[in-house]
Amino acid sequence: MEYQKIIDEIAREIKPEKFPGEVAEYIPELAKVSGDKFGIHMHCIDKGHYCHGDSNEKFSIQSIAKVFTLSMAVRQMDEDLWERTDVEPSGDPFNSLTQLEYESGIPRNPLINAGALVICDVLLSQMKNPRAELLQFVRKLVGSDDIHFDETVAKSEAKHGARNAALVSFMKSFDNIHNKTEDVLDLYFHTCSLSMTCKELAQAFMIYANRGVILETGEQILSGIQTKRINAIMQTCGFYDEAGEFAFRVGLPGKSGVGGGIAAVHPGYYSVAVWSPKLNPKSNSALGMRVLELLTTKTGLSVF
Ligand code: GLN
Repeated sequence: MEYQKIIDEIAREIKPEKFPGEVAEYIPELAKVSGDKFGIHMHCIDKGHYCHGDSNEKFSIQSIAKVFTLSMAVRQMDEDLWERTDVEPSGDPFNSLTQLEYESGIPRNPLINAGALVICDVLLSQMKNPRAELLQFVRKLVGSDDIHFDETVAKSEAKHGARNAALVSFMKSFDNIHNKTEDVLDLYFHTCSLSMTCKELAQAFMIYANRGVILETGEQILSGIQTKRINAIMQTCGFYDEAGEFAFRVGLPGKSGVGGGIAAVHPGYYSVAVWSPKLNPKSNSALGMRVLELLTTKTGLSVF
């Protein structure tokens, strides 16, 4: 299939500067990014690469990192992990506190903030230096050492992190956080501050399209069943209270972040990452969703 032609055609159809949406402002550092940025990178299982626009510019991947930390925790704990977090869609915003009260401090899933904070707690208990391990993990998936935290973004979020602090304290009261609140938050804010390009994200996400194996090196990172489960969680929980809409319109397991990125996979076929910082009211990239909808429609390649 002529993927490059299709991507160019999509890029001609959409107009980033005219697309509605707001750049995230609650983390002041993110508000500085131009809303007109747009990049896409598609990486196929036959090793083909196709891209357009700002696909080689680094941006804050934010909640997309929750898939990486989940993968690390699954490797460490396997089945026991599911006692600390559920795997049901939340139907609530990413930073909601409400369900935690009546579900005794067990987050709905690991891809909302509450769940990702528990995953950070798990990593702190299991590893000496989880921050360094995360960098090493993502660098290995991408095949590049040029992956870093953006300390300015991490600090900016820490300064305005009252809500995430509330989530950690609340879950601590149910004994579902075992480490110090400040350590959990520090690790969490750093994971969100990872800076990557669309190309790097598509390369990293290839393991979820390739049964847990790094395409370039053949190294098995996750087992087949672990990969299946992470993809299932992305499909049902990757877009907060818009997971149904994403499945309906795009039809791929994926994950969004408030930096405007979305990474998604079609297992057995391809991984893809898009970046457009203007968000819709559910905090997902408005243009990113539209572009992926056009991609799966024009190629006929979605999981449904
Ligand atoms: N760092 C952001 C937060 O915790 C991540 C949210 C997101 O990308 N949806 O608020």
